[in-house]
Amino acid sequence: MNLYDSLHRELRRFEPGNPSRVTVYGCGPTVYDYAHIGNFRTFVVYDLLHRHLRRRGHGVEFVVNFTDVDDKTIDGAAAAGRSLSEHTGPFIEAFLEDAETLGFLPGSGHPRATEFIPAMVYFVERLLDAGHAYRAGDGSVYYSVATFGDYGKLSGKGGEHDARRSRIDTGEFAKADPRDFALWKAAQPTDGEVGAVWDSPWGPGRPGWHLECSVMVMSLLGDTVDIHVGGEDLLFPHHENEIAQSEAASGHCFARFWMHVKHLKVDDRKMSKSLGNFHTVRELVRDGHDPAAIRWVLLSAHYRSELNFTTSALADATEAVQRLLDFRRRVTEGEAGDVAEREAGGSVARAARSGGDLEERARQHLAAFDAAMDQDLNVPRALASLWGLVRDGNAALDAPGGVSGGDRKAVLAALAEMDRTLGVMDLAARTRDVDDDTSRRIQEMVEARDRARKVRDFTTADRLRAELESRGVRLEDTPAGTRWKLVRPPGS
Ligand code: AMP
Ligand code: ZN
Repeated sequence: MNLYDSLHRELRRFEPGNPSRVTVYGCGPTVYDYAHIGNFRTFVVYDLLHRHLRRRGHGVEFVVNFTDVDDKTIDGAAAAGRSLSEHTGPFIEAFLEDAETLGFLPGSGHPRATEFIPAMVYFVERLLDAGHAYRAGDGSVYYSVATFGDYGKLSGKGGEHDARRSRIDTGEFAKADPRDFALWKAAQPTDGEVGAVWDSPWGPGRPGWHLECSVMVMSLLGDTVDIHVGGEDLLFPHHENEIAQSEAASGHCFARFWMHVKHLKVDDRKMSKSLGNFHTVRELVRDGHDPAAIRWVLLSAHYRSELNFTTSALADATEAVQRLLDFRRRVTEGEAGDVAEREAGGSVARAARSGGDLEERARQHLAAFDAAMDQDLNVPRALASLWGLVRDGNAALDAPGGVSGGDRKAVLAALAEMDRTLGVMDLAARTRDVDDDTSRRIQEMVEARDRARKVRDFTTADRLRAELESRGVRLEDTPAGTRWKLVRPPGS
């Protein structure tokens, strides 16, 4: 597998330290608000990478953190009049729900920065002892960039020249060097109000953001991680600073590969709250958009290329996903036909008319799909192979001779393998492929719950909700009544 490594700025053959335990760390959401669709472009790429590594036979430890203490979470909690954990808790829950909605594989953990404070304090002590950090007069501790010769190797920024320039530009003299950054921030009054203060040898305070990720990576995955991934905005200074701290502390390479996902645009513009183009997954789903279509749009472009999110792209994606499901059903239903025909004694004739061609082409399309994904997750090329399979399959099914059972099996197997990487078809089938019987039974239970609620029989209503949940049905109470959706295949 080749991946583009942002540190070496080239495609490189990916060689994990241990192929049966590939370690990946992705910078996760800052949980001061709902993650938006732009964040989810990056997170969908994490999931794609995770799935593809697994499909290629690796054991994978994939850690995505929650940044639950930083300026934004503290300011958000203070503005809402809540404690830090009261403020971040619901956004953590919301992220996990959205991740489920978009069909993410469960990761190997979602550490919260606040769970690692003792390890962070210890890490700062190591940097102080090694002479890579210094204490400021106010009880903060700063990393001393000048002590790390490789500073700037990831981004090409932040060299001495930049330091001199920014000193002139900003007139900043509080730090020994303007490039230095806080490892530990002395407590401010707002931190105290929301409970974001911890003891340390340097007095009460809280960790700096860059430090948080380094410590979670090294605590959970070791000194060297195989792949570190994040959105492109994190390359500098966040990841540059992570390298500086981690390599100075451990003396080892921090990440073998660095991957960065290009930012999503919405209607050709940068996403921002003020432009009103700030969508969340839950809003889109509430507006009736299909999760599988949202996922399809987010993964359809190569992760280092421009991607523009529009409603027409969503409509096209909805159609594309439906074509895939229709194709899969057509092949599957034909399979049932084969069995019936075999039972009726027609197997010899059917076997005779199959040239086995489609079987071979299915294998070729799957090989091309994998080769594309192995080349830096080239989804557009991989999707061309998927559509090639659909085209060849439909053509063979339309032909007067039809296709053999072996052909059908090969096509279904190739589709299933491709979907293990893409995670779209099974996700779509959850909500679109509910048979009438199941749908009627769910609807009856939802209505029974509504009736119980009307007469304030909350015990029954809660029991019905729990029962539906256990069958993979999620309820949403809207002003227009209760809506339901399947978040897992029924009964699984
Ligand atoms: P944040 O919640 O701001 O810490 O961001 C979480 C992740 O989303 C980070 O990896 C960011 O780089 C990424 N991200 C933020 N905005 C966008 C965007 N518009 N498109 C793609 N990724 C983004
Ligand atoms: Zn990070």
